[in-house]
Amino acid sequence: MNKSTKIQNNDQEPNRQEPEIRQPEIRQIVQLGNPILREQAQVISDLSSQTMQQLIVDLITTAKDAGGVGIAAPQIGVSLQLFIMASSPNSRYPNAPEMEPTAIFNPVIIESCGEVLKDWEGCLSVPGIRGLVPRPSQITTEFQTADGKKHRKQFEGFIARIFQHEFDHLIGLTFLDRVTDNKDLMSEQEFYRQVMG
Ligand SMILES: [Zn+2]
Repeated sequence: MNKSTKIQNNDQEPNRQEPEIRQPEIRQIVQLGNPILREQAQVISDLSSQTMQQLIVDLITTAKDAGGVGIAAPQIGVSLQLFIMASSPNSRYPNAPEMEPTAIFNPVIIESCGEVLKDWEGCLSVPGIRGLVPRPSQITTEFQTADGKKHRKQFEGFIARIFQHEFDHLIGLTFLDRVTDNKDLMSEQEFYRQVMG
């Protein structure tokens, strides 16, 4: 098993047996209708492998490039229980809070509480559409990080919303499945005009 976690400095020790670590890549985002978005993603056991490290940096790079505040592995065609939360203000989400990109492995939502609130969501796999999605405002979660450690953590507000949106991708759901009324859907063009304008 390869224990290397270095994702930079790939100019040293060129003759090691380990496969060369490549630069992060912007990956193609799978779109609604692709069956992989409807699958139950697989549990990950080799969290610290080089493959997993590269997957993480590719996901972060891909989300950033596309203006996402999160992305799940199935969205780049990899049906594994991994997603990234990477909230920061951008043109798609100008009011998003700033956070360090975090890789979440094998997540479980233990408890949902607080008010169920509707707020606008979009998805890199559902281009051109925004929807008002009802979600519990507080969640208690368990997950692992790339170092293999287990965490039990509460999230609330926008971060709880991102967590739930990305978690849904791991169980074959998109935000469209959570919208309770088709009238809560809007084209992105109308969204920017009416809601953001
Ligand atoms: Zn999404």
